[in-house]
Amino acid sequence: MVKKYLLHIGGEWVLPHGDKWFESTNPYDNEAWALIPEGDAVDVDRAVTAAHAAFTDGPWPALTASRRGALLRKLADLLLENADRLAEIESRDNGKLLAECRGQMKYTAEWYNYYGGLADKVEGSVLPTDKLGVFNFTRYEPLGVVAAITPWNSPLMLATWKLAPALAAGNTVVVKPSEFTSATALEFMNLVMEAGFPKGVVNVVTGYGGDVGEPLVTHPLVAKIAFTGGEAAGRKINELAAKNFKKVLLELGGKSPNIVFDDADIERATKGAIKAIFSAAGQSCVAGSRLLLHESIHDRFVEGMISIVRTARIGDPAKPETHVGPIATRPQYEKILKYIDIAKSEGATCVLGGRALTSGEFAKGNFIEPTIFTNVTNNMRIAQEEVFGPILSVIRFKDEEEAIRIANDVNYGLAAGVWTKSLDRAISVSGRIKAGTVWVNNYRDTSYCSPFGGYKRSGLGREGGKEAIKEYLQVKSVWFSSGIDFPSPFVRE
Ligand code: NAD
Repeated sequence: MVKKYLLHIGGEWVLPHGDKWFESTNPYDNEAWALIPEGDAVDVDRAVTAAHAAFTDGPWPALTASRRGALLRKLADLLLENADRLAEIESRDNGKLLAECRGQMKYTAEWYNYYGGLADKVEGSVLPTDKLGVFNFTRYEPLGVVAAITPWNSPLMLATWKLAPALAAGNTVVVKPSEFTSATALEFMNLVMEAGFPKGVVNVVTGYGGDVGEPLVTHPLVAKIAFTGGEAAGRKINELAAKNFKKVLLELGGKSPNIVFDDADIERATKGAIKAIFSAAGQSCVAGSRLLLHESIHDRFVEGMISIVRTARIGDPAKPETHVGPIATRPQYEKILKYIDIAKSEGATCVLGGRALTSGEFAKGNFIEPTIFTNVTNNMRIAQEEVFGPILSVIRFKDEEEAIRIANDVNYGLAAGVWTKSLDRAISVSGRIKAGTVWVNNYRDTSYCSPFGGYKRSGLGREGGKEAIKEYLQVKSVWFSSGIDFPSPFVRE
């Protein structure tokens, strides 16, 4: 049965202003399974007004930071209790493996625990200024209404990366999930209300980027936009926000290098390289999509990868035996196939996969074979542009200098992997790579404890770790005079 959702604004389930809905489909068979409200600028205004009212009046601004933290920890418990159910919904909505969604959903709960714990540990300082008889201190204050705009690949987790620190800091939030995967953000609102958050503190308006995202970004009462998504939308949001000097946090794309040196543990690096690119069928911002191999290990490394990836079971993401699921959306599926053609026309050699799967079980879904290209040079489009799919570009290098040059020769700087047994090399290379995250003998780990974000065109700001709560706070400097008299009210040298 197709489930029909409503918007969640000001603590209530409400009809969309335009009385319109669109379908959400399951990427496994492209069957519609839910109807998502098609919000518009009027819904955005209702939600932002509700969030602003909740920020300025009522119980939320009167809560102590410790009580806010307790609410967040309660939300974490509820999320854990509901993790399996939400994981099923998310897997149906975006095609990610159910097992992966379950793990991710449980882990998502930890973000509310962590930021719940941090809420009452934000401290200002007393500053030893040069002014005699004056006491100067700093305090951190919330910004106001935060707009959280998120993509389809890890919907509730990426909304949480914004929600947890923004709420811990005392802001209110309007969430605009991807039009392809809106269901879990709406389901999540039941938990927000059950946890006891005051009305209007969290609101969800679903709909398209132009109809909901842009009015949200330009709404005069929105203080900050926290966005995860592609470079084009990120640039547009940054431009719109700049017109009114709004703060932004942008988590954008990547073309991450995964460098394997000749002294690496080859077996481990092979598994790591496969995980780096083929987890979530490559639909991951940190995907290790450029595999840089030292020329002396290149051929055997590629052979080793092929022999393992060949055995990957492609299929229904709900089945525990599946290794690689479908592509989340039809437009993304078309885009990936186009990049396979581009890579071939540029002269790269397809040594594995390279086709859509369109018969039998795969007839109705968005399935593309895990694909490996060798003979890729770093100036090719397949090495420079984000594909966001199960397509690996393998590039050879001669020595460390060349590896670092190739790794950094790209507009992005989100993540990188380095595989080596040499401690000196690990320290040197991880220091010279221009990326927000570098994994050594490892790939894909992230944590609520650790900052995550991009260098260069991969974004602005950081999510995760203690730094992230400051993204949602502004500092005030307060000066107290202890009753000294002014010799003159006019300024003198
Ligand atoms: P997208 O940019 O198309 O959409 C992301 C969100 O922005 C959606 O909710 C969309 O409706 C909204 N949007 C689109 N245009 C908008 C506009 N003009 N104004 C306001 N909102 C607008 O991205 P996507 O296709 O959903 O996701 C894939 C992209 O996300 C990839 O580029 C990937 O690298 C990136 N991503 C980055 C990270 C990270 O942490 N750096 C994590 C996951 C995904």
